[in-house]
Amino acid sequence: MKRVTDKPYHTYSVYSAAAKGLYVKCPKCGKAGIVTADKTTARFSCTGCGYAKTKKQCIFFCKIENKCVHCGRYYRVALSDDKQPFPVLIAACPFCGHKMPGRVQKTPAYILYDQIKDGCEPFFGFQLWFFTCYDGKPLWALNREHLAYLIDYLSAGLREDPVGAHTTMRTQADRLPAFMKTAKNRKGVVKCLEKMQKSL
Ligand SMILES: [Zn+2]
Ligand SMILES: [Zn+2]
Repeated sequence: MKRVTDKPYHTYSVYSAAAKGLYVKCPKCGKAGIVTADKTTARFSCTGCGYAKTKKQCIFFCKIENKCVHCGRYYRVALSDDKQPFPVLIAACPFCGHKMPGRVQKTPAYILYDQIKDGCEPFFGFQLWFFTCYDGKPLWALNREHLAYLIDYLSAGLREDPVGAHTTMRTQADRLPAFMKTAKNRKGVVKCLEKMQKSL
């Protein structure tokens, strides 16, 4: 009997998979492309037509904090432009209107995504390459490794939790929707997954 050991919950989260690359369909030519992302930047590049895209994963909140030399009160002004290029700007005191220079403070905020929506990855919204439907329900894999894991896991006769896991620890299989795991669907689902495997 084939036996498989499940993996920790975060092994194939969108984020950890994106570090190595998500397989997506290029919106320009329909061939396979790869999305990679780290904390600060997401990148797409198509292996077919060379189309490439980059997106910053980090936005800034800018503000000026000052003590007004005219009325003596402390104030904070939020700046709407998050790409504020100047280190110092003139800002008006909200209490008395006195204008004076203030140092621009930038606070970085990282956008963290971890959801696949309608078979699309969250960074650019491109459709996953390994995406199909089984019995009207979406079936997808983030990349080859993830797909291989799914096939391995679902086709095994015996499934074990990761080494060192205790019963309350969530595992990779906890991410899978119930229809994939039920005995009556498993064979069909695996067939579907194997078909996808051959598509690239
Ligand atoms: Zn392309
Ligand atoms: Zn003032």
